[in-house]
Amino acid sequence: MAAARFWDLFRIGPVEIATHRDRYGRTAHVAACTAPGCDWSADYLNRFAAELAARTHRCAPR
Ligand SMILES: [Zn+2]
Repeated sequence: MAAARFWDLFRIGPVEIATHRDRYGRTAHVAACTAPGCDWSADYLNRFAAELAARTHRCAPR
């Protein structure tokens, strides 16, 4: 994670979306929840899918 390069950071509620290169050299979009105790994150190959996932994400109640 520390070596990865992210750009186009975008935040929807507690979820941050960033664009990066995945290990195959493709542009990928990661959505990651920053809420404490919520480890949700997911990779998407298109930006819209990542934004949609961020918008519909609900933190899992503990
Ligand atoms: Zn969450």
